[in-house]
Amino acid sequence: MIRYSNITAPLEYNDGWLRLWLSQKMKISVSDIKEVTLVKKSTDARKKNDICFVLSVNISVKNETEVLKKNKNNKNVSYIKKEKYLLPQTVALPKRPVVVGFGPAGMFAALYLAQCGVKPIVLERGYDVDSRTKKVKDFWEKGELDTECNVQFGEGGAGTFSDGKLNTGVNNPLSKIVFNELVRHGAPAEILYEAKPHIGTDKLSETVKNIRKDIISMGGEVLFGAKYLDYKEKNGRISAVIYEKDGKEFIIDTDNLILATGHSARDVFYTLNDKGILLTPKNFSVGVRIEHTQEELNKSMYGEFYNHPALGAADYKISVHDESGRGIYSFCMCPGGTVVASSSEKETIVTNGMSMFRRDGTNANSAILVGITPEDFGNNSLDGIAFQEKIEKAAYIAAGKSYKAPCCKVGDFLSGTKTSLNGSVIPSYKPGVSLVLPDEYLPEFVSDALKFAIPEFGKKIKCFKNPDALLTGPETRSSSPVRIVRNEKLYIDKVKGLYPAGEGAGYAGGIVTAAMDGLKCVMAIVGR
Ligand SMILES: Cc1cc2nc3c(=O)[nH]c(=O)nc-3n(C[C@H](O)[C@H](O)[C@H](O)COP(=O)(O)OP(=O)(O)OC[C@H]3O[C@@H](n4cnc5c(N)ncnc54)[C@H](O)[C@@H]3O)c2cc1C
Repeated sequence: MIRYSNITAPLEYNDGWLRLWLSQKMKISVSDIKEVTLVKKSTDARKKNDICFVLSVNISVKNETEVLKKNKNNKNVSYIKKEKYLLPQTVALPKRPVVVGFGPAGMFAALYLAQCGVKPIVLERGYDVDSRTKKVKDFWEKGELDTECNVQFGEGGAGTFSDGKLNTGVNNPLSKIVFNELVRHGAPAEILYEAKPHIGTDKLSETVKNIRKDIISMGGEVLFGAKYLDYKEKNGRISAVIYEKDGKEFIIDTDNLILATGHSARDVFYTLNDKGILLTPKNFSVGVRIEHTQEELNKSMYGEFYNHPALGAADYKISVHDESGRGIYSFCMCPGGTVVASSSEKETIVTNGMSMFRRDGTNANSAILVGITPEDFGNNSLDGIAFQEKIEKAAYIAAGKSYKAPCCKVGDFLSGTKTSLNGSVIPSYKPGVSLVLPDEYLPEFVSDALKFAIPEFGKKIKCFKNPDALLTGPETRSSSPVRIVRNEKLYIDKVKGLYPAGEGAGYAGGIVTAAMDGLKCVMAIVGR
């Protein structure tokens, strides 16, 4: 198979253009080209008057050896072996393994365990994705929060109601497994070649369901409304798991437990802490979500091409350090999306972002976060959680004891004046917003860092200068404030067979790295 990289293609390119271009560059006839497969596609918008795509393709041609010889001096032409996608071999375990949490880490761990033939049992405190969607809607539309089933808890985990961005920045064979399995279970094929792949909430919900059905078809079980409470151990090894369902307690005997409960399962952290399991504080970030109209962002990023159909909704990634060296950066940017109510505890407000696959919403939003370290919140293992909670509760109170999140215009925040919503951007947050400046619920050093950063961002992206842009907050759950310490074999030293996994355990940040961490724990269990 031949790979041709770094192809600069016009926005209007199509398959016919590509084949003609390749035949001219490789000095072969178009009819010699059998198959062209896109393997990488990115947008080059550095020159606003000449935006183009950069592509890499795999090509199968007639007389491959001759064609390679003819193009041996072309550094963009290379020979690659066709990759075979292999499922894991069957193994035997004395007892069925248990996976707690059906977020990306738990989901991929359970899928891999099922593919190994060991019939995993999954415990998920929230409900299946369809029932969960109803619960989330009840919160967004009526302010009725279910603390066991919400944007943080339920089938698919925290990332189900999201933009489903899949960029990781890590180049690891495990990420290939994650991407291939997502596509095998219904995710759009574009994620295999887009430089910035995303699935969107609508497609992610279906993909998650298909993974669940596949696990069950291989003899696994996925129990919803099943809340992990505690574990039992014998001679320093896990021996059983205790969970609650429909008000009753149950016990499952097992030798292996993957605990993938995410960054919002604070009760799990408290239980582990009470049992003397070693937890350490971890850096994380807090801030607010900024919202612009997507059109104004597209104009800032694409200039005259702002509404070119081939480009779609623009995104951005931006960061700066203030005088003290503290980092302020954009996070989890959701083009054509909405700001979503992501609380999991009563009388708290937490924001995050979500988009559908088409990213065709009116607004663009992103978290603007300030880096936080134990120096800011304390060195005890759970101090970070207390720091988050304080902000989330303060926001609820500042919002008049309602779930209508604090919101203001950027101009009013920077000038410290009373805010209003009579600007060019309409807030997308449901169940509605309250007119409150971030100073009323964020620590002063965080507000100050944001006041420093936003004008700095305006020097790089024009729409950040718009005083009508909105700030809705607080954004406190960017990653886990706690790490559950595990050894190089990935289990807790004190309890053999207990594998803390994913974002909540402090070993991942995002959908793909969480899924990869789930796979790693399974490989540790099945000895691969
Ligand atoms: C709104 C939103 C948007 C996001 N957007 C993106 C994005 O676009 N791209 C990206 O890469 N990341 C995104 N993230 C982050 C991403 O979702 C997480 O990094 C990822 O889901 C972490 O996976 P995990 O499996 O480790 O934990 P989680 O996804 O948090 O899953 C943990 C699961 O464990 C369950 N659980 C917790 N306690 C118990 C218990 N006691 N018993 C049984 N089950 C329990 C929970 O209900 C949950 O389903 C977003 C997060 C949110 C909230």
